[in-house]
Amino acid sequence: MDRYCVFGNPIGHSKSPQIHRLFAEQTGEQLSYEALLAPLDDFAGAARAFFAEGRGANVTVPFKEEAFRLVDELAPRAQRAGAVNTLIRLEDGRLRGDNTDGAGLVRDLTGNAGFALAGQRILLLGAGGAARGVIEPLLAEQPAALLVANRTLAKAEELARLFGAFGPVAASSFAELQGPFDLIINATSASLAGELPPLTAELIRPGHTRCYDMMYGKEPTAFNRWAAAHGAAQTVDGLGMLVEQAAEAFWLWRGVRPASAAVLAELRRQLA
Ligand code: NDP
Repeated sequence: MDRYCVFGNPIGHSKSPQIHRLFAEQTGEQLSYEALLAPLDDFAGAARAFFAEGRGANVTVPFKEEAFRLVDELAPRAQRAGAVNTLIRLEDGRLRGDNTDGAGLVRDLTGNAGFALAGQRILLLGAGGAARGVIEPLLAEQPAALLVANRTLAKAEELARLFGAFGPVAASSFAELQGPFDLIINATSASLAGELPPLTAELIRPGHTRCYDMMYGKEPTAFNRWAAAHGAAQTVDGLGMLVEQAAEAFWLWRGVRPASAAVLAELRRQLA
């Protein structure tokens, strides 16, 4: 049986094994998928041991940058994202690194949530690993503008420079933001601590602006509660991004694209 896994630390609460088991059941693919706790000081050792026979792996916090440095070759989108969330063992035994987070976000936004991105004015909050991985796929959808706002302005400026050739991207501090926007995506980790970036009501046009938080949970996130309280037309959390980045990884490994909507509905049902 072909072996797959997800590496992280901590990893106990990962939903990836369940998602991939549902994909395998649905597509009839014969595979096993487990969650593996990699030691914080030896991700490379854990990956080497697994890939003595393993076929592929997902990588989550805090190993995405280390995985980027470990692989023998990189998909162009992973090269630009500076992080790897999917490892693939090639026929000749070398490891290829890819990044499916951005494709997962765009699929969730345009497919599951039904948001149009072309011609839209998009605000991306945060300039960490998650933000960096989604800028290029968002620009490929041809928004009118993509503004990256971050607490540490220099990091947003660096991303705007890095991706400037791919479309209309610019950087801003939170204080200088001028709304409203058509779509606001929260890629900060503030929601993890139940916090909010310093946002003002005028960023939202009531009844029009749509808001997306990459974080998800049983209860609405702090950002999505703020958005709903200011009249956002729609608020969506990151559960669909999680399922869609997994579907993209499954496709890279198996050459079969699972129907992700049914799996997302099942995870949503379990979360309730
Ligand atoms: P990083 O640690 O790389 O980046 C964190 C970002 O959040 C930085 O831009 C940081 O700003 C900002 N930040 C943190 N706290 C605050 C705060 N209180 N106010 C304002 N800004 C803040 O994290 P990641 O990019 O890896 O992850 C970000 C989020 O995305 C997490 O919630 C994660 O769970 C989620 N995620 C979801 C995925 C999914 O599939 N649904 C996939 C990947 C990530 P500064 O630079 O100034 O420190």
